[in-house]
Amino acid sequence: MPRVIVYNTNADKQVRDFKELAPDAQELIRAAIEARRMAYCPYSKFQVGAAIQTGDGSIYTGCNIENGAYPAGICAERTAASKAVSDGKRDFVACAVVAQQESGFTTPCGVCRQFLAEFAMQRDFPLYCAKPACPPLHVLVTSIRDLLPRSFSFLGNK
Ligand SMILES: [Zn+2]
Repeated sequence: MPRVIVYNTNADKQVRDFKELAPDAQELIRAAIEARRMAYCPYSKFQVGAAIQTGDGSIYTGCNIENGAYPAGICAERTAASKAVSDGKRDFVACAVVAQQESGFTTPCGVCRQFLAEFAMQRDFPLYCAKPACPPLHVLVTSIRDLLPRSFSFLGNK
């Protein structure tokens, strides 16, 4: 009988109760849950919401926006980040991502990890991944550098 190897990813240690999170984090997750309702995803039917808090306390939200020309679509995280940056805010302090998957938490795709890492060069920021029940029971707490260590940078990697 083949031996089953179980990898310990430490993932369980990063899952927290929503109620234990700081009020700012809870508010950010709630904003992402609300933003998810705006998702335009007629092709995948996979709704995603995101929210980014900037240094001045502002919250920018985004949803995924698909397109019949598939690659033209954009993820919720990049929608939220684009709204913040185009409003002059680049100092991201936290990000929340919300989607429904039975198997686990939805984390940002590779493109979004790189996109967000651009704004985490000076300071890493927490990333909260949750399911859309409001309020959610559990939240995966990670960070952008945790998800994408040694990301590409023109400025070199620190
Ligand atoms: Zn993405």
